[in-house]
Formats: sequence, C-alpha cells, structure tokens
Amino acid sequence: MSVVLPFSREFEFTHGVAELVAPGLRRLVANNPGPFTYKGTNSYLVGTGSVALIDPGPDDEAHRAAIFAELDKRGERVSHIFLTHTHRDHSAGLPKLAELTGAPVLGFGSTAASRKAAKLHPTSDDILDVEFIPDQPLKGGERIAGGDWELEAVFTPGHAPDHLSFGLNGSETLLSGDHVMGWNTTVVAPPEGNMGDYIASLELLLQRPETVYFPGHGGRVDQAQRLVKAFIMHRRWREQQILDCIRDGLDTIDLIVPRIYETLAESLRDAAAYSVLGHLELLAATGRVIADPHPGRNSRYSISDARG
Ligand SMILES: [Zn+2]
Repeated sequence: MSVVLPFSREFEFTHGVAELVAPGLRRLVANNPGPFTYKGTNSYLVGTGSVALIDPGPDDEAHRAAIFAELDKRGERVSHIFLTHTHRDHSAGLPKLAELTGAPVLGFGSTAASRKAAKLHPTSDDILDVEFIPDQPLKGGERIAGGDWELEAVFTPGHAPDHLSFGLNGSETLLSGDHVMGWNTTVVAPPEGNMGDYIASLELLLQRPETVYFPGHGGRVDQAQRLVKAFIMHRRWREQQILDCIRDGLDTIDLIVPRIYETLAESLRDAAAYSVLGHLELLAATGRVIADPHPGRNSRYSISDARG
C-alpha cells in the first residue's frame, strides 16, 4: 500500500513580475530556487492601495526592487508586513523592507528558547532567524484589517514552531506558508520541526472553510482539503512503515531510511533521516516505540511491549 499524493508541479510565473493570482492577491516569486524552495520564495501583496505584504522573502535586491516597482506603478504603500515563519528564505529580506516601508511587522515572535539545537536543521546550517521580534506578536486567532483587506492569523506549528498561516477573510483563500504546499511534502525536521504539531495543524485546517491555498513555494492549490487529507494519510502510512521496519529489526534511522525511501537523491538523504526522527519522536511520545537512550538521530528503537 502507498498513498498517492495529488501533487501539482505546474507553476507559471516570471521572476520580478507581480501576478494577480486571486481577487485582491498578488504574488511575486524571488529568484532563490532550490531543493527546499522549489522555484523560489513567494511574497504576496494583499489588497489594493494600503496593502499587506506576506513574507518579504530572501535578502535579495532584485526581489525588493520588483516589490517596490509594483507598488510604485500603482501608487500603493505597504501598511503591514506579515511573516509566516522565521526561516531565512522567508524572513531575511525583512529588516530592509521594514525600514524602507516603515510598516509594522506581525508574526509569532521569538521562539529562540526552543531552538537551541536548531543549527541541526538539515535544509541549511543557517536557516533560522531566531533574532526576530515582531512589532505585533500574533498567537493565532487575531483578525487584522487594512485598507480593503482583513487577514485572520491561524497558528499552524509543525514545519516550524512559530508557523502561522493567514486566512483572507471574505474569500476561500488561505496563505499556507510552508505548512501545506502543492508541489511537495513539507520538511518536518526535529528539533525545529515537530511531527505531532504538524499533524495537529493539518487536522486544524480540515475544520476551516478555506478551499484554495497559496503556499510559500510553488503554485496555487485547488481542492486544498483533499491535499491536506492526503498528507495526513501519507504521514500515517510512513508511521506504519517505520513500525514495520523496527519489527523487522531495523532499529536505527540509518537502517530505516534506505528501506522506506527506495529512491532518494543524495541531497535529500539528511532531510529524510530527520523526517523519520520526527515520526520516531511522536511514536516514542505516544508510547508505541521505545528510544534508547532518547529519540535522537543515532539512537536505537524498539517496539513498546506495553502496546504490542
Ligand atoms: Zn520554512
């Protein structure tokens, strides 16, 4: 058995050109493609006139110039800057944009305390922006209104401990950041990522009304709840695979990864190992697996007798 994920890698855009992707929503794609950023990081402009900017993107002069060219063309200004999470491909451009626009920055805020070991993140040594302090901290549930738009903050930790998605009120649209993307599964890599939180954040989205997502990387996701359900099933299936491996005596992550990822590019091997660790943390926390000495990258794992 396996779960077929309804991915769409279709994504038409031009770097440096703002595109109207839904009523009141424009997207600009930064030129920072990579295995974890796909074609680049998406920045979004919400509304018209006094607009919200969601995710400044990387610290890239051309990307910044494209954002200001779009604003200048229409005589617009940025009234608020929102941050989905503090990974540098979304946040490194923030200080300069905040300075140039004078706009307040809204985001979850510092989670540095929980990120002491976060340098271990597999996608980059230096991915995290732990210094970030928002002008207005958001916890989720807030509604923030600007010129002709209103956004609802939705707390969706898992990929990152500070991850927020944003519902565009009066529409069926959710800006889903890196929590749900249409082109690939999201990286959930401890200690930065938390599989239990991630699955809970997926289940949360099933309770919400939005059906169209615009992610932090890649194109529009239609029938988004179908994809969310598929991601939940996919993670449950991976969990079963990992339990099967341990039952078969494959008791370390290095033994499990080649079994369950039959074809895997070398560049993604580390991310896969941390993803398996994410599952093992959850399996240990819920008493299904025993980790010796604790859930870690090089620990040994066995099935918990208590649960059979
Ligand atoms: Zn991220």
